[in-house]
Amino acid sequence: MKLSGWGCYPIIECAAHLFEKRSTAAALLSAGDDWIAYGQGKSYGDSALAPHVLLTQEYNKLIDFDAQTGVVTCECGITLAELIDLFLPRGWFLKVTPGTKLISVGGAIASDVHGKNHHAEGCFSESVISLRLMLPDGTIASCSREENVPLFRATCGGMGLTGVILDATLQLKAVNSAYIRENIIPCANLDEVFVQYDRCSHYPYSVAWIDCLAGGSSLGRSILMVGDHDDDGELTLPEAKRLSVPVTCPSFLLNNYTLSMFNQIYYRVKGKPAQRQRVPLETFFYPLDKIDHWNRMYGKAGFVQYQCVLPMATSYKGMKALLQQISAAGMGSFLAVIKLFGPQNENFLSFPMEGYTLALDFKIQPKLFGLLERLDRIVLEHDGRLYLTKDSRMSEAMFMQGYPRWREFQDLRTQYGMKKKFNSWQSKRIGL
Ligand SMILES: Cc1cc2nc3c(=O)[nH]c(=O)nc-3n(C[C@H](O)[C@H](O)[C@H](O)COP(=O)(O)OP(=O)(O)OC[C@H]3O[C@@H](n4cnc5c(N)ncnc54)[C@H](O)[C@@H]3O)c2cc1C
Repeated sequence: MKLSGWGCYPIIECAAHLFEKRSTAAALLSAGDDWIAYGQGKSYGDSALAPHVLLTQEYNKLIDFDAQTGVVTCECGITLAELIDLFLPRGWFLKVTPGTKLISVGGAIASDVHGKNHHAEGCFSESVISLRLMLPDGTIASCSREENVPLFRATCGGMGLTGVILDATLQLKAVNSAYIRENIIPCANLDEVFVQYDRCSHYPYSVAWIDCLAGGSSLGRSILMVGDHDDDGELTLPEAKRLSVPVTCPSFLLNNYTLSMFNQIYYRVKGKPAQRQRVPLETFFYPLDKIDHWNRMYGKAGFVQYQCVLPMATSYKGMKALLQQISAAGMGSFLAVIKLFGPQNENFLSFPMEGYTLALDFKIQPKLFGLLERLDRIVLEHDGRLYLTKDSRMSEAMFMQGYPRWREFQDLRTQYGMKKKFNSWQSKRIGL
């Protein structure tokens, strides 16, 4: 069957196999090489694509839950949305959540995803107490910060290249509301974004939407949204309206949608002190989940998401250079997102490092790849790196320079015989 990630680029012919039982997964793995696990396919490029794909969506049972401590054990195919539906009404939420809840627990661990609170709570792996991994020979290893530590450090953020994460035990976070108290702060340019981020670093959650069309003295014009959980005892979410994009359609529709969303907020709050509001948690964390199949808005050719991180010392200069290139090329999505990251963790390939990250979409079109190479050079000149889970075109040299621990990762893969068994199109491209 033909498979792709969320960016619909590239589309690859893969032999895909579902499994519901561990024994089926082990039998499948024994039949050949070049396997990769595929969760909900929300990574953007080719990290979940390989000649043989193991679909985890039916391996999705809840195994255990302790209502006193908020510790849950579940199979890898369960989604974050399912965990929220089950546990938010009981006062538990995820410690770390990305901008979509429509992903699997296995995918969240393998990409070691981050949310709007990386500076406060780190990556998803910080909430992983332990996990069980199927190795190339079908045996199972328990991994944690105490047991099989190198395997744990390689698997969290390891993009499925160490084996199949079968199940995981996670620490949830106690909350007393399904709502977020949010402050909205308009920023006239990039300088203001950095000043406001500094002032607001005590908020656990923050994200800035940047208008990529603005140039000159308005370069980096943004809306910064910061917030924390409310404490009102209201644990039920209101019914959410859903929209859907039924067929692939022109990209200007998505740009118009995000443009009007940005302008509505920006001009409502511009020139006023920070605006406070109480919003359902879903509106704050998952605004794009309200539109089913929004990826179709980029048309049949698909799109790439470019996400980089730059260390604190070079963030401002580097972001400015990147935004100048993007606004001059006029090719990116209207909206980009900037987030603040805290210190990097000990995992071999986790993406975040202390500094700022920038993410935006680019429709596949002529001249795009030339622009992305220019952006790569700026990222490297500023000691940054690109996010593997968003990537579909990074070069081997770019990967190796950005992820200096790749050698330790590869040594571990050699030691466990993973190099033949677990590969993706991405891993081959970047030399793993
Ligand atoms: C709208 C949107 C917003 C997003 N926002 C963010 C964000 O804010 N922060 C962020 O960090 N990411 C974000 N992402 C990216 C997304 O969170 C990650 O790509 C995530 O890994 C997708 O999970 P999945 O279940 O879809 O995994 P897939 O896309 O299917 O796979 C992703 C990787 O995980 C591996 N994998 C999956 N399951 C397993 C398993 N059981 N065992 C071993 N390996 C496995 C795959 O092999 C692959 O390498 C966003 C994506 C979208 C579409």
